[in-house]
Amino acid sequence: MSKKILIIGSGIAGISSSLKLKSYGINSIIVDKGNFIGGRMSTRKINDESNSSFFHGAQFFTAKTHTFKKIISSGIEGKYIKEFGNFDPKRYRGNETMRDFLLNLSKELHIKQKVKITEIEPDNNRINVLDDKIKKWMSYDGVISTLPAPQNYELLKQFPSLQTTLKTGSYHACIALMFTFDEIPSDLKIFYDFYKKPGILSWMASGSDLNVWTAHTNEEFSNLNYNEDKDFLKEKIMLSIKQFFLKSKIKFHSLHIWRYAKVANKCSGTQIDFKYPVAIAGDFLEGPNVESAFISGYKAADLIFDRLK
Ligand SMILES: Cc1cc2nc3c(=O)[nH]c(=O)nc-3n(C[C@H](O)[C@H](O)[C@H](O)COP(=O)(O)OP(=O)(O)OC[C@H]3O[C@@H](n4cnc5c(N)ncnc54)[C@H](O)[C@@H]3O)c2cc1C
Repeated sequence: MSKKILIIGSGIAGISSSLKLKSYGINSIIVDKGNFIGGRMSTRKINDESNSSFFHGAQFFTAKTHTFKKIISSGIEGKYIKEFGNFDPKRYRGNETMRDFLLNLSKELHIKQKVKITEIEPDNNRINVLDDKIKKWMSYDGVISTLPAPQNYELLKQFPSLQTTLKTGSYHACIALMFTFDEIPSDLKIFYDFYKKPGILSWMASGSDLNVWTAHTNEEFSNLNYNEDKDFLKEKIMLSIKQFFLKSKIKFHSLHIWRYAKVANKCSGTQIDFKYPVAIAGDFLEGPNVESAFISGYKAADLIFDRLK
């Protein structure tokens, strides 16, 4: 089928939408406003000779569905996914970084970064999209939009049936502190779970090696404090981490505040506009994790394909 389809967002939902369309013989184009592929599956390279990387968004993914298990198997075979630790159920990561995983998964796709879409409107049965980079309206046969629900709500103002769904979606914030140790403590694990423990942290996980760490604050602290001064937040999180590593010096690297991190209120499933070929995909429709976002992308591609065939 020769159709011109635009996918907005190069996170896992955008990539899976494009992969599924490709399996139907449709070459779509993905655009994303960020500098790098991956959205919330984010990687930050450390700026020194170590070549280490922080995982500062998603730390790992699980695979419960047959569809995603197949992706994991081919990633392990292709050496761009590996098991993370020894957990039950199993947890996985990109071999070196999350970006490593996504670049391999998307190597046959057409992706343009640093392109922000600012408006979308129907035009008979086509969809016009305003590309902020070239300041031009482009026309498509179909669009899949994978922005977090509140941002999608702003973008899809001209699609009332999608708005009804999108307005019900909400997210917890998350504050991520990236740090290294001056000297790696002995007996260091790769992952610390603080869920339901007193304090402000939810977990802390190593990056591409044992000296590179990201700590995430819990939902309660993040939702209350994401607008606070960055130095205040940095000090507060460093203090919390130090309680666990009394003998080790911690070196601060960077703080990142995710306004939309984990889905708080999920919307009612992946869907397409009643009237126009515009579908929405992402974690806010299927569940608060990487695998659900991937599944949502597949579903959105099916909906667009069925509408256009
Ligand atoms: C701190 C943190 C920790 C997490 N930990 C885990 C974990 O351990 N395990 C797990 O399974 N999940 C975790 N998650 C959740 C997981 O990362 C997400 O569920 C998943 O990555 C969502 O993918 P997505 O494609 O739906 O959205 P996103 O990854 O958010 O992709 C949306 C993309 O749209 C782009 N975009 C936005 N507006 C525009 C625009 N106007 N024009 C063009 N592009 C635009 C953005 O740049 C972004 O790349 C975590 C999330 C965060 C933030």
